[in-house]
Amino acid sequence: AQARLAQAQRMEALGQLAGGIAHDFNNVLQAVQGGARLIASDAADPGRVRRLALMVVDAASRGAAVTRRLLTFARRADLRAEPVDVADLLTAMREILRHTLGSGIEVRVQVAPNVPALLADRGQLETVLVNLAANARDAMGGAGVLTLSAIHEAVANGNGAAAGAAGLKAGAYVRLSIADTGVGMDAPTLARATEPFFTTKPRGQGTGLGLAMARGFAEQSAGALTIESAPGFGTTVRLWLPVAPSEPVAPAPHVAEPRPQAD
Ligand code: ADP
Repeated sequence: AQARLAQAQRMEALGQLAGGIAHDFNNVLQAVQGGARLIASDAADPGRVRRLALMVVDAASRGAAVTRRLLTFARRADLRAEPVDVADLLTAMREILRHTLGSGIEVRVQVAPNVPALLADRGQLETVLVNLAANARDAMGGAGVLTLSAIHEAVANGNGAAAGAAGLKAGAYVRLSIADTGVGMDAPTLARATEPFFTTKPRGQGTGLGLAMARGFAEQSAGALTIESAPGFGTTVRLWLPVAPSEPVAPAPHVAEPRPQAD
């Protein structure tokens, strides 16, 4: 029954997502169609044809990304885990968020020394972080501080209250935190926050899928998600993701002598 309920929720979520995706997809198709039509009518100018063809290729890959999003949610099997450099990830996120959150929100990044690479699908992880940041922005009403941070954390069996509660296996993790200075959640909201379709936002503004998808992503990536929140104190969402297996030990770098130029 549990599995059937989860399946039903997934189907329902798909229905909701389908509307947004159909819209995105239609934009992409229009770009493909328009580009192809122009190529057909203007095949005499090779430079222009090339530019238009590149535009079509670009639009098609955006289309593929849209369907990938849909498939990930439908089948939950399309994650491509790769080692992700944490400082690089959070610096890139800061840039994205600075441009999307509005000038009233200060974005801070704190990466502890020696945080190893984590193992996850980077594109999906960025989408999750953008969604969490959008929640933080909504909670802060346009002004406040958003802090993205990362530390390396070893989880031992039955060790660490939060990690234990999140059901993490023993192992090495990178813990990413996204903390806001917003309104926070009361206990009943916190208890339901990661349920699919649970939202306290006005109709049309919330889907109730952001945290559900973030949690699904963490769990599929062999990690976990926890939330700490209290009214008036803000919210911290923590994502544990496994440390990437270390690279095979590379042979000592061989510094090639610059060869004298033969002439
Ligand atoms: P949505 O944002 O579409 O409502 P989510 O699953 O992302 O869906 O969030 C569910 C609910 O959890 C929100 O409606 C809000 O009540 C609460 N919530 C999520 N993130 C935060 C946050 N950073 N601060 C306060 N409340 C939050």
